[in-house]
Amino acid sequence: MQISILGNGHEIGRSAFLVSDGKTKVMLDYGVKIQPEPPQYPIKAKTDAIILSHAHLDHSGGLPILFEKTKPRAFMTDVTLDLSKMLLEDSIKVGKKNGYNVPFVKNDIKKMVKGTRRVSYREKFKTGAFSCMLYDAGHIPGSASALVKNKKTLFYTGDIQTTESNLLAGCKLPESADVLITESTYSYKNHPPREKEEERLKQHVEEALSNEEKVLLPVFAAGRAQEVLLILEKYANKIALDGMAKKASDIVSKYSYHLKDKKRLKNILKKIHWVHGHESRIKAAQHYPIIIATAGMLGGGPAIHYLREMKHRAESKVLFTGFLVEESPGRNLLETKIFQTAEEKFHVHCHLDQFQLSAHAGRPGLMHIIKKLNPETVICIHGEKTKEFARDIEKAFPSVQAIAPKNGDEIKV
Ligand SMILES: [Zn+2]
Repeated sequence: MQISILGNGHEIGRSAFLVSDGKTKVMLDYGVKIQPEPPQYPIKAKTDAIILSHAHLDHSGGLPILFEKTKPRAFMTDVTLDLSKMLLEDSIKVGKKNGYNVPFVKNDIKKMVKGTRRVSYREKFKTGAFSCMLYDAGHIPGSASALVKNKKTLFYTGDIQTTESNLLAGCKLPESADVLITESTYSYKNHPPREKEEERLKQHVEEALSNEEKVLLPVFAAGRAQEVLLILEKYANKIALDGMAKKASDIVSKYSYHLKDKKRLKNILKKIHWVHGHESRIKAAQHYPIIIATAGMLGGGPAIHYLREMKHRAESKVLFTGFLVEESPGRNLLETKIFQTAEEKFHVHCHLDQFQLSAHAGRPGLMHIIKKLNPETVICIHGEKTKEFARDIEKAFPSVQAIAPKNGDEIKV
């Protein structure tokens, strides 16, 4: 088995790994690195099949490129297909608006949808001599890890969370694997206890409400928006939901059998205010103290409109609940109190804070996965400190060979 690292080596973004047995090629994800702009795509390659782990653009954002000239077969869960279609269509619009070229057109997304087979967790499917299966990755609704097997067994985590959240139960794992490709987003840290972070978030919201101030929560549309809604359930009638988070919430609630509680999200979505159009946005900013809006890293979307509106209010709060990639407007804002994109730059006086409600496993979770699967080889990707993580894995598991490949590397196992 040969594994080519086409992206996501020594970085976070543009996940793409090509697995080949000499006859059949299987692509695991084909994403984009969105920030900083202009976006970067993985190394080009042809493939017979694609397994998409989940809808986030750093995993799905380049998928239509693979359908431009050839007809590979893609495999993913139902909700992943709907969410990625939505995010991919939006990425074309964002490219036009921000003045860069997206290397595919709407018709390529159509071809992708047509060429996709929706698979359930634990359903066996074959491509060439590879026998494959998806496991619930516990990261966002529909997210999957992939087991790909011929002579050797390879397990690709995708983005994975070992512990449960309000929205999802934790990941499921196979009994063992010879080769593990593992994400390493939080390989260097333990998350603070989740309940404490949720409590801290609620306290901040409570404080703002009692001072008649505003709270803006910039969120990722798929997964995080719904998790934040569940955490702030008791404030549902004070919440306005805006941006792509609305459509994503609709899709997630349509496939609610992937969720830990099938009814809870549906009930909340009935109580909150849905923002539609510019007029409604202005009203929402006036009448609703809690705004949940995309984009999570403030790279675009209506969250920026609300930020502009409230920037002078020192007692209002901008609360981040997701990962902020280096050089993203959100990360820069948190570090400097200055919001800056190609079009504008302004100082934000609001209270800024970040909460660790991560949808990624922390270091103990990642170590647990390695211990459970007992692989011969671990390939560390999707992290800012993969080399250090590989070294630590070899120290903790002397029988394991751990590698932190860079883009362009090929690994034979
Ligand atoms: Zn993700």
